[in-house]
Order: sequence, then structure tokens, then C-alpha cells
Amino acid sequence: MMNVTVWNENRHEKTNPEVQAVYPEGIHGALSNFLKENHSVQTATLDQEDHGLSDELLNSTDVLIWWGHVAHEEVSDHIVEKVKNRVLDGMGLIVLHSGHFSKIFKTLMGTGCDLKWREADEKERLWVVDPSHPITKDIGEYIELEKEEMYGEHFDIPAPDELVFLSWFEGGEVFRSGCTYKRGNGKVFYFRPGHETYPTYHNKEIQKVIRNAVQWAAPVNRARPVYGNAKPLEAIGSN
Ligand code: ZN
Repeated sequence: MMNVTVWNENRHEKTNPEVQAVYPEGIHGALSNFLKENHSVQTATLDQEDHGLSDELLNSTDVLIWWGHVAHEEVSDHIVEKVKNRVLDGMGLIVLHSGHFSKIFKTLMGTGCDLKWREADEKERLWVVDPSHPITKDIGEYIELEKEEMYGEHFDIPAPDELVFLSWFEGGEVFRSGCTYKRGNGKVFYFRPGHETYPTYHNKEIQKVIRNAVQWAAPVNRARPVYGNAKPLEAIGSN
């Protein structure tokens, strides 16, 4: 049982009845509802003090899930710095959908993280391109989503350590939709689906991927490596 924190911007849910209808408990509510079956889950949202991410909560979080869209700029830099340091310490981070433009993801990637997009109710097929990867456990050859927003290449990210899913969209584009990275002692997974007006996080296959990703991103219990000037382990020149 891990400590999972679900962070959600929670703005669309306050203003858009279409989103409220799909996610009456918010996207954070939908994510925490299925993760609660296996983990101790806390939620945190942008408009809370320190965006809900107190030192106490961050320090006890094994895996942090991040969903944001319209208010990335409102996330304060000092909280982003704290989250980044926790990732380097070993906390897992799962960045969902429009979180590609969050400060934390852009900081950890070091690239623009831009992409093509279109809202046209089109079909998405996420192909498993790394069948040995634990994030694909119990997933078939592909996951099909009847309606989603399109994200298309080029996606301005560093080459992923592992590419787990590749999406095809009805309109013709493709997208690297499941990407893993290692940063310091921490593991990062970017997972594309989850536009706020579609019931994507109610989809059992998508839930399975997120559950698998939480397992995969679990911290390895070890201290950060030691850096800087180092004394020799043997007496140099004596043998
Ligand atoms: Zn979207």
C-alpha cells in the first residue's frame, strides 16, 4: 500500500457544466476513487493553500499524479521546485494529458513540450509498443477510446527512456502517448489521454494503465547518490 497524491487544477470542474457532468467529484475525485482500492490516496488542488502540497504531504507521498490545463502559470515556482526535489529524491510522478505544459513537466524535461491538438470527438487507439513493460500489464494489443481530443506529433519532449504507448487518431495524426523518464532517483511517466469533457478516467483500461504506472513509479528505498569532492577508497600509489 503506497501513499498516492492526486493533484488536480480543478478549474474546469468549477466553471464548465459539461465537465461537472462527466466528473461530478472532479478529475481528482475520479482518479482517487479507483486508486483508493489499493492505496492510501490524498487529493490536492490549485486553490488550496500551497496548492494543497504541504511539506508534510509531499514528503510522505510515494507517487504524485498531476492534471492541469488552464492555470499552469498560477502554480508557484517554489512549489514546483519542491516537487522537483522530491522527484530527484525518488518520488514517482505521473503527468496526465494537458499536464504536458505544466511547470513541473517542462522543468523536468527541459524542452518546450508543445504539440498539435484538435477537439473533434475523434477516435483514439493507443497501441502497446512495449509489451514487456510493467505499465502494460493486463492490457491487450491496444486501448480504444471512442472520443478524445487529438494530440499530434511533433511532441517536443526529449527522447523517452521507454516508449510504452503510441496513439493513432482518426484524423490521421500519431502521438507518443506513454513515455517514461528517470530523473535523479525518481521515475516519471507521461500518459496522454484524459481531456476534461470525455469520460476517459472512467474507462477501466485507462484506470488499469494508471494503476500499473503507480506500481512502476514506486520509489526505490535508497538515499540520493553522493556528489562532490571524494576521498580515495584506497591509499593511492601505495600498491
Ligand atoms: Zn485537453
